[in-house]
Amino acid sequence: MKIIRTPRSMTAWSEGLRREGVTIGFVPTMGALHDGHRSLIRAARLQCDALVVSIFVNPTQFAPTEDLTKYPRPIAKDRALCRAEGVDVCFEPTARAMYPEGFQTTVTVPALARRWEGAARPHHFSGVATVVTKLFGMVQPHLALFGRKDYQQTALVRQLVKDLNLGVAILVRPTVRERDGLAMSSRNVYLSPHERRMAPLLFRSLQTGRQIIEGRKSDVATIERIMQQTIEQEPAIHVEYLAVCDPDSLEPLSAVAARAVLLGAIRIGSIRLIDNLLVNMSGRKVTTQVFRLTAEDCT
Ligand code: AMP
Repeated sequence: MKIIRTPRSMTAWSEGLRREGVTIGFVPTMGALHDGHRSLIRAARLQCDALVVSIFVNPTQFAPTEDLTKYPRPIAKDRALCRAEGVDVCFEPTARAMYPEGFQTTVTVPALARRWEGAARPHHFSGVATVVTKLFGMVQPHLALFGRKDYQQTALVRQLVKDLNLGVAILVRPTVRERDGLAMSSRNVYLSPHERRMAPLLFRSLQTGRQIIEGRKSDVATIERIMQQTIEQEPAIHVEYLAVCDPDSLEPLSAVAARAVLLGAIRIGSIRLIDNLLVNMSGRKVTTQVFRLTAEDCT
C-alpha cells in the first residue's frame, strides 16, 4: 500500500490510472477506523479496480469549542486496517497542504445544512462540503462511498455533486452497529462505561418511532413525544433533537408519509451522538444495489 501525502502526487497517481481505464473508488475518512469504515472500504474494493482511503481530520468542520485536538489519531492502526483490506493508497494530506496560505473558497449547501446538525454546529457543513469537493478534485474518483450513519452529510454530498457537476458516483452504505444497536463512531471511545451503557437508547428510541410509523397509528407530534420519552428514562441524557423528516429535503414532516427518515442527536455528558433510521413503506427497497463499476459507466 502506498502512502501519499501531497495533493499533487495524489492527483498524478489518479490521472495515470484513469488514462489506463482503471476505475478508482474513494472512501474519505477522519481516521480512527472501525468496522463502519471497513464496510465502506470492502464495498469499494468489490466495485472498483483501485481504492483510495483518505485520512484527514479536517479542522474546518470543527468549531473552536469542539474536539479537534482531542480527536483520536491512531495512524499506525488505521494504516494496518487499510493494508489488510487491500487499499491501494492511503492519502494523508497535512492541514497546511489542504488549506495553504491565501485559501479563500468555501462550498455551502444552504438549505440542506440549515437544520439538525447544521443548526447545532453552524460551520460544520461548509467545512464538510469544502473538504469533500477538494478531496474529489485531488483523488478524482469514479465512485465515492459514504455511511448512512451521517445521513444529513450524505444528502449534502449528493446535492453538491449534482449542483457542481463533479462527475463522481456516490454510494451510501448502511450504518454498522455494535451488538446493542449503538452506531459505531470514532467518538464512542470517549464514553465512560456508564455512559456507554446508556448510549443505545438513541437507537432504541428511533426504532420505537419507526415501529409506530409502520403501524400507521399515530401523528408526527405523538411519535416524536414517544421517542423523546423513550430516552427520558435516563435523565443523564440530553436530547438535542428527535425528528420525523422528509428523507430528501430533511424538512420536518407534518404528517406521517410512506418514506421518512428519523433523525436524532443526544448529549451524554460532553459527548454528542447522532443516529438515524429510514422508514420506507412505499415498496421500494432501501438496500444498496451491488454492481461492479467499469470505466465506461463513469464517462
Ligand atoms: P468519519 O471518519 O467519521 O468522517 O467517517 C468517514 C465515513 O465513514 C463517513 O462516510 C461516515 O458516514 C462513515 N461511517 C462512520 N461511522 C459509520 C458507521 N457506524 N457505519 C457506516 N458508516 C460509517
